[in-house]
Amino acid sequence: MAFDCDLFVIGGGSGGVRAARIAAGHGARVQMAEEYRMGGTCVIRGCVPKKLMVFAAGHGAGIEEARKYGWDVAPARFDWRAFRARLDTELTRLEGIYTRNAEASGVVIHHQRAIMTDPHTVRLADGTEISARHVLIATGGRPVVPEGFDLPGVMTSNDLFLLDDLPSNMLIVGGGFIACEFAGLLQGLGVDVTQFYRGAQILRGFDDDLRHHVAAAMGIQGVDLQVDADLVSLEPLDGGHFATTDTRGARREFDAVLFATGRAPNTTGLGLEAAGVTLAPNGAVKVDAWSQTNVPSVYAVGDVTDRIQLTPVAIREGHAFADTVFGGQRVQADHAMVASAVFTRPEAGTVGLTEAEAREKGPVAVYRASFRPMQGAFVGSEVKAMMKLVVDPQTDRVLGCHIVAPAAGEMIQLAAVALKMGATKADFDRTVAVHPTMAEELVLMREPVADT
Ligand code: NDP
Repeated sequence: MAFDCDLFVIGGGSGGVRAARIAAGHGARVQMAEEYRMGGTCVIRGCVPKKLMVFAAGHGAGIEEARKYGWDVAPARFDWRAFRARLDTELTRLEGIYTRNAEASGVVIHHQRAIMTDPHTVRLADGTEISARHVLIATGGRPVVPEGFDLPGVMTSNDLFLLDDLPSNMLIVGGGFIACEFAGLLQGLGVDVTQFYRGAQILRGFDDDLRHHVAAAMGIQGVDLQVDADLVSLEPLDGGHFATTDTRGARREFDAVLFATGRAPNTTGLGLEAAGVTLAPNGAVKVDAWSQTNVPSVYAVGDVTDRIQLTPVAIREGHAFADTVFGGQRVQADHAMVASAVFTRPEAGTVGLTEAEAREKGPVAVYRASFRPMQGAFVGSEVKAMMKLVVDPQTDRVLGCHIVAPAAGEMIQLAAVALKMGATKADFDRTVAVHPTMAEELVLMREPVADT
């Protein structure tokens, strides 16, 4: 059968665009549909605008610090509207780059929604039907608000970047990546932030020492972090404000409420049932290690598959798919030892096993340094950095590395190379320190901490 194209990609985010470009590079005739803006969550309402806001917040703290370093600085005020105008321009620039790069690779982009009607056919919002030898689902995810709280005016991370003005105070619900990053950056931009997390400590799944250090730093920066606290009721007030009651019985009022309570795969109404594609109970597209669904012509990559919800992982999955299906190579995306960073202030970087995960597998030796970094200590900051290595005492292999420090995201990328190569503690020890830095602690930790 002659198809209109070799590949139709639904979703113009990180994973979809990479797959489309690589497939086109292998000679495939590729078409793509994106219903909103090219670039997807990462570029338009995720990693990129978030990181720019982290930079903005960092400048505020930097101005205060500069004063203590001897600079005569006039009182500074953050102008959200000026920032947002520049942010909008930057995102439009990046969206243009995404679009141009895809088109320059030969990808035909339809700027409208597409759904599947059978294993080889998609239908665009304007009614056009396009047949494809292969279809790639790369529709990402969307923020979820817990049932009963999805009231008009309640925000998710999607809404934050579109605000005309910052609220003066805000409640953030959740204790994951997004909740912690937003709490830190918004507090840094002058918003009075309260954060509720329903469990005993934020960042569940991360190493316990990392969690503790991030939580302590957030408290020092002024975030009112309340753990073992959850919303019981939410009542809209005039002016878009909300009254809340929580599990501790307290009633409070907030100018704004933001839920960062996880993300769900974007599969609703996509026609996947019509195509016969099997979904997991949470709506994620089920795929094998080649990103192939139960329908041989249909593949899926990125957050919609709910494997590891990170942009670089989606990119690897998209690339591996295109090489496998169109490049004549059998390539699987490697999901082992994926490093990540939480852009709190200071940042947290992590790769490999947490201490708790390693202990489940056998004995471990833990090396940990906790200290006030030179730059902050000079101005009296109590915020502590933390470096930690989790080591297998039998093989000496470093199983995990966890860092809380300014620029921990940059550091963990390099530590990830070492761990991916199978570095031992002895390899770290024989590496000469770079002095004076924070990262030098990673190669200076001589004695394991005593078992507790
Ligand atoms: P996460 O899954 O990381 O965190 C969700 C948080 O919400 C958890 O603390 C969870 O608690 C809590 N929660 C879930 N449901 C409820 C509920 N009904 N009531 C109260 N609290 C609830 O999701 P995020 O939205 O923060 O981020 C989604 C994903 O996006 C991340 O997993 C990450 O992969 C990716 N991301 C990566 C970033 C980066 O690389 N820097 C930045 C931002 C996002 P509990 O722990 O108890 O389940």
